[in-house]
Amino acid sequence: MSTAREHLKQARRIVIKVGTSTLAHADSGKLNLYRIEHLVREIADLHNAGKEIIFVSSGAIAAGMNKLGVRVKPQTIPANQALAAIGQGVLMHIYEKFFAEYGQTIGQILLTGENAADDHARENSRNALQAILDMDAIPVINENDAVAVDEIKIGDNDNLSAIVAAMIGAEVLIILSDIDGLYDGNPKLDSSARLIDEVAAIDSDVERMAGGAGTKLGTGGMFTKVQAAKFATAHGVTMLIINGGVVGNLRRALSGESVGTIFPRRVT
Ligand code: GLU
Repeated sequence: MSTAREHLKQARRIVIKVGTSTLAHADSGKLNLYRIEHLVREIADLHNAGKEIIFVSSGAIAAGMNKLGVRVKPQTIPANQALAAIGQGVLMHIYEKFFAEYGQTIGQILLTGENAADDHARENSRNALQAILDMDAIPVINENDAVAVDEIKIGDNDNLSAIVAAMIGAEVLIILSDIDGLYDGNPKLDSSARLIDEVAAIDSDVERMAGGAGTKLGTGGMFTKVQAAKFATAHGVTMLIINGGVVGNLRRALSGESVGTIFPRRVT
């Protein structure tokens, strides 16, 4: 077991990020309740085991589209703002229900780039997060897509989760993806592509492997995940990309098993 993976066993403050492509069925775009429920149960159990969990969830726009029966993501910004406003409530309703079933309390925080733009803004955001953790509740975070446009928008929750992890001094950021981790090629096109276990340094080779592609539902893709890894590891946070579709993966990764790709924090 590598030293970085060995350290995961002791991690106490953990940010877990889930993207729309994990939360929704690929074909229908509707929410995958089976997967959401299993994920909530795993997070609730980690919390019961004494971990502080900060949960970053996408899916507001997808939930809004479902609710209104919209099948194609609209092109205009106001329509997406409205779908996010409608869907964020739907999403929280589901989380509230599932987390409550496992005895957990959650608190929603919606952030924009402005909430991390300077020391003062970061401190206010950190204080709110810390207060939720002190109340033994689980913060559930998304970008405030209803108001975040143009220069105040972070734009993807991979980078948002890295900003949050750095802000709150998390030891680990786990990004749940729809594939197993970072490959040295595109596994969807090239069957010889190999999963990378550990990325010691994020250089131009690693950035090339990440490519630019995303899925039709999510905003991210490997590119934004590697950007997030660069930011997180530079701020003392170890990052992992694991497959969010495999039940039990979170627990296995946190017990040091060789799951997904690990980007050990840079020790400065
Ligand atoms: N904040 C967006 C949503 O909830 C998703 C951003 C992303 O996919 O990274 O729909």
